[in-house]
Amino acid sequence: MANKRDYYEVLGVSKTATEDELKKAYRKLAKKYHPDANPDNKEEAEAKFKEVNEAYEVLSDPKKRQMYDQFGTTDPQGFGGGAGGPFGGGNYYSYTSSGFNGFDGFADFGDLGDIFSSFFGGSSRTSSSRQQARGPRKGADLNLSMEISFEEAFLGVEKEISITRPETCNICNGTGARPGTTVTKCPTCHGTGTIKQVQNTILGQMQTTRTCTTCHGTGEVIKEPCENCKGKGTVRKQARIKVKIPAGIDDKQTVVLRGEGEPGEKGGPKGDLYITVKVRKSSVYTRQGTTVLCEIPITITQATLGAELKIPMVDGSVEKFVIPEGTQTGTKFTIRDRGFKSLNSNSRGSFVFSVVVQTPKRLSREQRDLLEQLAKTMNEQPPVKKRGIFG
Ligand SMILES: [Zn+2]
Ligand SMILES: [Zn+2]
Repeated sequence: MANKRDYYEVLGVSKTATEDELKKAYRKLAKKYHPDANPDNKEEAEAKFKEVNEAYEVLSDPKKRQMYDQFGTTDPQGFGGGAGGPFGGGNYYSYTSSGFNGFDGFADFGDLGDIFSSFFGGSSRTSSSRQQARGPRKGADLNLSMEISFEEAFLGVEKEISITRPETCNICNGTGARPGTTVTKCPTCHGTGTIKQVQNTILGQMQTTRTCTTCHGTGEVIKEPCENCKGKGTVRKQARIKVKIPAGIDDKQTVVLRGEGEPGEKGGPKGDLYITVKVRKSSVYTRQGTTVLCEIPITITQATLGAELKIPMVDGSVEKFVIPEGTQTGTKFTIRDRGFKSLNSNSRGSFVFSVVVQTPKRLSREQRDLLEQLAKTMNEQPPVKKRGIFG
């Protein structure tokens, strides 16, 4: 990860590039650096080609792009979110995913996608491995959503969830073959996992290799499938997982649990579990970034004479706050450091409340007498003030 060039720089686009701009830049560079188009300096071209491919793979995926923009990497291990991470003991990190609109990066790419499989024999492996069968692969990621209360988002919460997911079959240890039998070489591709063919592409005719359909690229076929998993190597099981939601998380943000996704193939690492958090609305508070907002009703005498108010904090505690005499309705007051915790630092936002003067609707006889006495000492109605645009 150390000396990697910026992905935007690799593609020669700005940080605000649209999907179309990315696609265009990528097409151009992919053609330019395609090793077949650079017979004189094939190696250098291949390195560039891979760099371009990697940059596009990340930036064309809204989820990955957002992660990259925010953290400068898409590798969760780069975040210090492990055991000793900032949230103490959890194996997650979080990021905003509100702009996520699904995957369609390669949707209309057709032939260009084939060029990649022809060159790298699949995802992003080197050309030297193209004659080999598919190796270990990371398992698929899983997505879930979870609802929590406003207060839980404020304080952080640990929840146990139950999911049904494929897990490695413990009878065949994921091989898919009945215990005592072995997997054999695929007769169609002779164990290579791929089949060569000549194809017409936008760069002219070229030899491509396709994933073998008999063995789906594994290079192996199972003669006697495991009865427990029917040869799939995995069985669906219910799992209970503890999820730590960090204090300060906002609506639509995502918590990632590394290694809680589907099992990998051939000893590859497990996929990850993405949990998108939905924060329920509070009847008392609203939120703006890390700031908590709320309205506090006060009486006309409190507004007029000043008062010590008891302000209910989100964590259930009460903060005393003195408002001055002559406080107008709608006036905002700030209590520092009593807002939401910031996810990326140790700072906290503020708690901002605005007072709303309640005009009494029912008065006792005594109160009415007192108010009438007061009324006699005051002008009938204050003069109408001329106001500017901003009042
Ligand atoms: Zn099995
Ligand atoms: Zn095969």
